[in-house]
Amino acid sequence: LATDSNPPKTPNVDKELPPAIVPGDRMNATFVTLARNSDLWEIAKSIRHVEDRFNRKFNYDWVFLNDDDFNDEFKKVTTALVSGRTRYGKIPKEHWSFPDFIDQDKAAKVREEMKEKKIIYGDSVSYRHMCRYESGFFFRHPLMLEYEWYWRVEPSIELYCDINYDTFKWMAENKKKYSFVLSLYEYVETIPTLWEAAKNFSAHHPEHIAKDNSMKFLSDDDGKTYTNCHFWSNFEIGNLNWLRSKAYVDFFESLDHAGGFFYERWGDAPVHSIAAGLMLNKDEIHFFNDIAYYHVPFTHCPTGEQYRLDHKCHCNPKENFDWNGYSCTARFYETNGMQKPEGYDKEK
Ligand code: GDP
Ligand code: MN
Repeated sequence: LATDSNPPKTPNVDKELPPAIVPGDRMNATFVTLARNSDLWEIAKSIRHVEDRFNRKFNYDWVFLNDDDFNDEFKKVTTALVSGRTRYGKIPKEHWSFPDFIDQDKAAKVREEMKEKKIIYGDSVSYRHMCRYESGFFFRHPLMLEYEWYWRVEPSIELYCDINYDTFKWMAENKKKYSFVLSLYEYVETIPTLWEAAKNFSAHHPEHIAKDNSMKFLSDDDGKTYTNCHFWSNFEIGNLNWLRSKAYVDFFESLDHAGGFFYERWGDAPVHSIAAGLMLNKDEIHFFNDIAYYHVPFTHCPTGEQYRLDHKCHCNPKENFDWNGYSCTARFYETNGMQKPEGYDKEK
């Protein structure tokens, strides 16, 4: 039973929805998850967290994408768990394979070397397709073209505090394009030439570089070298029109042709982060301090006891990663001239 505040956008799922608790209009937004059928029970846990803490109040759609066909069990269980409409998309083959300009022998040799060096996912072909897909294609999937905003959810994540407002609406009203909850240093052996590729792009496309960018987050020496700081992309709330913009697509294509998705093991997190850092103005990137989150092995637990009590948080503040030396969040605060939350120094 759809209420007026949550009109059906798509007629493809016959499902009775409970009325959304929070009145008012909804944004043109969706959750999005890339998953295999074998991820079902881990994504089921994530969905419960997201529904309990947020979406049961808003009933946003959820798009599931896969390089294979989702099976009936996956669709049945996830549709039962999500309070909004669920949609299932298959990724076109050309978005999940080696582009013709990639030398496959060279790529195979790199995987062997990375395996010897025990670099995480270093020998995996599918992980590379996944990183390239999340970097350059998910926002162009036909199902995603219908939406303006997305919230990415991965298997096995947790949310620890109630979220009582519409985060998509908040992003729009505050003119944000990209957001994060955890930031950290990338494992440099996976991206030895990524920064060179980004610099090469900047040199050829000065028109895409934002005036008030976040270079101070990305570099300590005015762009010469990369700090390896990135926003952790297993959580993202962002604007799909930005990712579909000429600036972002030019950026992705330039990196894709540089070959590092296959000749190295570039992650979508540093790719999105460098793009946001260079091509968005500083104030278009948001740190959601209030979204308490876990993805193995890191926790973001909001600093500030009163907030945690008021929002029924169940994370242990001692596990908060933000002010740890391996987090880049303090650097984000400094880049943006923000005052660190009260009590941060007691949590270190
Ligand atoms: P990690 O967080 O970097 O350790 O990587 P994950 O294993 O969590 O993978 C990242 C995301 O991509 C998750 O949403 C996975 O479900 C998804 N994923 C990873 N590999 C594949 C794959 O081969 N096929 C599909 N369809 N999804 C994948
Ligand atoms: Mn993951």
